[in-house]
Amino acid sequence: MDKPACWNEERVGVTGCERCPELGDSRSQIVDGVGPTDAAVLFVGEAPGANEDEDGEPFVGRSGDVLDDGLRGVGLARADVRITNCVRCRPPDNRDPTGDELTNCRGYLDREITTVDPDLVVTLGKVPAEHLLDRSVGVTGEAGNLDAVTVDGEEYPVLLCVHPAATLYDPSQRGTFESTLSTAAEYAGDGGQSTLGEF
Ligand code: SF4
Repeated sequence: MDKPACWNEERVGVTGCERCPELGDSRSQIVDGVGPTDAAVLFVGEAPGANEDEDGEPFVGRSGDVLDDGLRGVGLARADVRITNCVRCRPPDNRDPTGDELTNCRGYLDREITTVDPDLVVTLGKVPAEHLLDRSVGVTGEAGNLDAVTVDGEEYPVLLCVHPAATLYDPSQRGTFESTLSTAAEYAGDGGQSTLGEF
């Protein structure tokens, strides 16, 4: 796989990308993935929101709190996993990223996947699931199911998960969310116990 322009191999992130003109104007900063670059589990969300755009980190604010709580519930800490997004710049007014924007940013996501080389990719919500799997996904019905994506000739298992925010709007999805994270923890090694040993 050719190195995408603006990809910073050392940072496992992106510097100075202007491929999406509207996002280049609306963002405060590019929001790269966080967490170990050799993590066993890579979570993939849709795009930065207002909090992420401000803090420069994926999944902060209420959705991030739900994800962190869920991870703690299965014996993991945020620092045990890697978390990234399909697009790295905040779409204006929190709209969904366009197909072109997803395509523009895909090379960076693929590069992150091959660099981290995780044992499991977990998609958080419909957009990342459909983007990675290149098919229609009914995320509520398929949450907890495994699929796979091939990147640069390597196949990676993909575990479909509801978006953490969905559990705030629809508490009935909490159980599915938690059981999906429990499956993810099995891939994280050490029986799902945090490598940090503290919560
Ligand atoms: S979303 Fe991705 S491709 Fe688009 S400007 Fe931001 S970093 Fe570049």
